[in-house]
Amino acid sequence: MSEKRLNQAIETLKESGVRITPQRHAVLEYLLNSMVHPTADEIYKALEGKFPNMSVATVYNNLKVLREVGLVRELTYGDSSSRFDCNTSDHYHTICNNCGKIVDFHYPPLNEVEALAEQVTGFDVSHHRLEVYGTCPDCQKVGTKKH
Ligand SMILES: [Zn+2]
Ligand SMILES: [Zn+2]
Repeated sequence: MSEKRLNQAIETLKESGVRITPQRHAVLEYLLNSMVHPTADEIYKALEGKFPNMSVATVYNNLKVLREVGLVRELTYGDSSSRFDCNTSDHYHTICNNCGKIVDFHYPPLNEVEALAEQVTGFDVSHHRLEVYGTCPDCQKVGTKKH
């Protein structure tokens, strides 16, 4: 991970007047280091050794703050298991059916789809999400070992 991204993110927090607590710093650093789109629970488990007094609620609160200043994107999946993405540039996701891993890939944003949707439905379209599902390389390996 580039120190630069962390420093930039911290600058953004400072400019937004957000207090940088050690926990907030750790949550941000963890997100920037991990490209796996963790859940709040996973972040909590990864950091609880370092911050024994921290609760899952604290992690959630910190994620909310980071989301509000635009450093983190929340990906909801219709259940309680939101995942958090610190890659806020335009990108799409592939999701493993087996382990739930999310991997980024880049593709030119499908602006024409948004335009068509606006035309057809009369919606004022804000954004779209595209997710491609399948079996990740790790799970494919496990699958072939079994046979
Ligand atoms: Zn998998
Ligand atoms: Zn992503």
